[in-house]
Amino acid sequence: IIFLGIESSCDDTAAAIVRGDGHILSSVVSSQTALHAEFGGVVPEIAARAHAERLDIAVEQALAEAGIGLRDLSGVAVTAGPGLIGGVMAGVMAAKGIAAGAGLPLVGVNHLAGHALTPRLTDGVDYPYLMLLVSGGHCQFLLVDSPEDFTRLGGTIDDAPGEAFDKLAKLLALPQPGGPSVEAEAQQGDPDRFSLPRPLLDRPGFDMSFSGLKTAALRLRDQLIAEQGGLRETDRRDLCAAFQLAVAEVLAEKSRRALAANPVPVLAVAGGVAANRTIRAALERVAHDADAKFLAPPLRLCTDNGAMIAWAGIERFRLGHHDGMDLAARPRWPLDRNAAPMLGSGK
Ligand code: ATP
Ligand code: FE
Repeated sequence: IIFLGIESSCDDTAAAIVRGDGHILSSVVSSQTALHAEFGGVVPEIAARAHAERLDIAVEQALAEAGIGLRDLSGVAVTAGPGLIGGVMAGVMAAKGIAAGAGLPLVGVNHLAGHALTPRLTDGVDYPYLMLLVSGGHCQFLLVDSPEDFTRLGGTIDDAPGEAFDKLAKLLALPQPGGPSVEAEAQQGDPDRFSLPRPLLDRPGFDMSFSGLKTAALRLRDQLIAEQGGLRETDRRDLCAAFQLAVAEVLAEKSRRALAANPVPVLAVAGGVAANRTIRAALERVAHDADAKFLAPPLRLCTDNGAMIAWAGIERFRLGHHDGMDLAARPRWPLDRNAAPMLGSGK
């Protein structure tokens, strides 16, 4: 089987063609970063409009690069939430149009399920496995038992780590997105010069907190500026190194606990923060110590893309599930079955 996957829940317009055996025939990602840059964040109205303008082009390009036509498809998968509602609606409407026009089944996909199922697409891992989703918008541990069976063990109670990296970069006048620039500075810094807190490590469970880290970094910065009249290059580097180490240690310790409580054979990560080498190495050690395999998909599949949506659609479709033309776009949609009821979910 072959699926088209459409993703438009944040600031990337993406379309991809994926085969049932996990082969990605094409994956087109059109980033809106430049459009939102001057506003210091994603502007929902601008995002929705850009998605609406770019979706058809992305789909056309994905089909062309895969060398297939609509008639070769077995179905259309689309992110139906959670995310910025205007963008999600644009994607769902585009998918409905294609599905109805070509007489194809329509499969609504939870964006987080797309991320969480990526190690199945890239490495064919078996269920169950533990997934740490760490991005600009999310941070949670998910126990994945089937394409539709996720248990949220815990997560951040405030900022996502990517958001914290971005805010630190802003504090230190480093370029956005903050993650890569903070990592580059940290590489030349001394992680032990400043001591930053390790929030919530003193408490049991798998919840995390990252906003206090940013506040502590802000205080250190202001103190340095007051004492020296400005920030030196080494100050910036050392602050980045301390910050990165704190995030890595919190993620690692909570992962260690999550694996100990749920001894599954694989610890997988997804999300843009998984690109960070210090964080990756810390998690790899945790998995190794627990006799688990560590899986980190390639970065282009860790960040938002259409291939993960196509794949999640294939997995749901294989369970015999699909949606009708009443498929709704949802701004909020918790993955965990035990969370709020999922209104209008598929058949
Ligand atoms: P979501 O997909 O959860 O809605 P998002 O689209 O912001 O959120 P991603 O595209 O997965 O998330 O990741 C982007 C985030 O990852 C940014 O916050 C960025 O700073 C962070 N990031 C990217 N590279 C690194 C890195 N090397 N180290 C730390 N963080 C990084
Ligand atoms: Fe995402």
